[in-house]
Amino acid sequence: MAPILGNLSASGLAFVYLVAGILFIQGLRDMTHPRTAPRGNRISAGGMALAVVTTVLVTDILSPIVLLAGILVGAAVGGWLAISVETTEMPQLVGLFNGFGGGASALVAGAELVDAFGTGAVQTSVTATAALAGIVGSVTFWGSAVAAGKLHGVIDDSSVRYTGEQVVKALFLAIAVLSGLYLVVRPGLFGAVPLAGWVPSYWVLVAAASVLGVLLVIPIGGADMPVVIALLNSYSGLAAATTGFALDNSVLIIAGTLVGASGLILTLIMCESMNRSLTNVFLGGVGETADDDGETPDIYEGNITTTSSEEVEMLLDVADRVVIVPGYGMAVAQAQHAVAELAELLDENDVEVEFGIHPVAGRMPGHMNALLAEADVPYEKLRDLEEINPTFSQTDVAIVIGANDVVNPSANTADSGPIAGMPVLNVGEARTVIVNKRSLSPGFSGVPNPLFAEDNTNMLFGDAKESMQELVNVYKERH
Ligand code: NDP
Repeated sequence: MAPILGNLSASGLAFVYLVAGILFIQGLRDMTHPRTAPRGNRISAGGMALAVVTTVLVTDILSPIVLLAGILVGAAVGGWLAISVETTEMPQLVGLFNGFGGGASALVAGAELVDAFGTGAVQTSVTATAALAGIVGSVTFWGSAVAAGKLHGVIDDSSVRYTGEQVVKALFLAIAVLSGLYLVVRPGLFGAVPLAGWVPSYWVLVAAASVLGVLLVIPIGGADMPVVIALLNSYSGLAAATTGFALDNSVLIIAGTLVGASGLILTLIMCESMNRSLTNVFLGGVGETADDDGETPDIYEGNITTTSSEEVEMLLDVADRVVIVPGYGMAVAQAQHAVAELAELLDENDVEVEFGIHPVAGRMPGHMNALLAEADVPYEKLRDLEEINPTFSQTDVAIVIGANDVVNPSANTADSGPIAGMPVLNVGEARTVIVNKRSLSPGFSGVPNPLFAEDNTNMLFGDAKESMQELVNVYKERH
């Protein structure tokens, strides 16, 4: 059956792709602010739908039945994942999606090669870009699979180091690059090449790059995972863009480039906020997870002061300025609505309230911003690390809700370890610090937190949602 829009002119198709590209860019622009982000998502999704539907209707790719079956299966799996996956598991889901993007690019580039060699029209532009897409796509797929496995706890998230690590990685990179060069050069040297002549070189390239993807992520431990996920996201865009060149498809080039560039910007922001260099993360294998033997560290012995909702209310009653610092525990407990209500009550009673948001708080970039926006906390109250840190010394009460690594002062002093050198929120400079969590357990990095034992810290033990609701009730009763 001929494609429905089969007679759309090349310039007509280019125009539709251009419109889709403009929608992606407008969507990204809207996503730079939490208030306009949902609209940005819809606009970008609209652009993608336009690009996909047009491509399907214009090109004779597959029979409509096979295509429809693929769309239905994909939509069902995607819908099921979106509904069933908890927000706290989002990073590994995003990691998997990055991986699927990379894997799809490597497979599509391979299919394009099969097609090109089948028709005998093999151009260097196709083999070169397919080789690049194969390498980047395979690294992305396997790297993302390992990263998602580490985040989900099915793969040990410690940093795996071994002798000659860099040499082994260089060897697999060399095999992948040489196979790619063979793929590019051979048709030019020998004219028409039989299928068997090039197929192995592409799949050798894919196999070597796959091993490389695993080797690159295995040495990266705990706390540096956010950077790796962002970098792999950028790679998935790069793989899609190079596949776009192999297919000569402008909308894939635009979409891939946008993902690649924005992923790289995010990676650099994350590196800066964790005080890591890109090479450090990707080649050094920093970010090992500290051992948590389950025993209470000595620094806590006899130095922990506990408190209650009633006592915290009394402190808040006389406070002029309060800073709330949310972390992963707020997400686990889904405490954002109770936290928002507390902030609103304080605001109504003329207490200045701000939120200190660390860039890697939670388990995905923007995790806290998204949760607080969902609870209608005004965006103007959210301050990032550089803005809020100088204000702690003029703050009466800092309330830390389910955050741990992002307020761990040992990051400022330790010479080594998972969070050494990571800028943290200096909540200890506030007159009083309330830390709400369930126990003295460490956070994601496994590093004990001396903040809990400080003289001006009071521990409010309990689930974040229950504790905040109780605090709200006590506050309401007394005001
Ligand atoms: P942490 O993981 O350091 O600490 C979270 C704390 O929340 C835990 O110590 C836990 O203590 C507490 N908690 C868990 N459940 C509850 C609950 N129901 N009620 C109250 N407290 C609870 O979180 P942070 O946000 O401080 O730091 C984020 C960490 O995650 C960083 O190390 C970062 O590198 C890493 N990371 C960040 C990603 C990102 O993109 N943002 C992605 C991947 C990792 P207890 O069990 O005692 O309650």
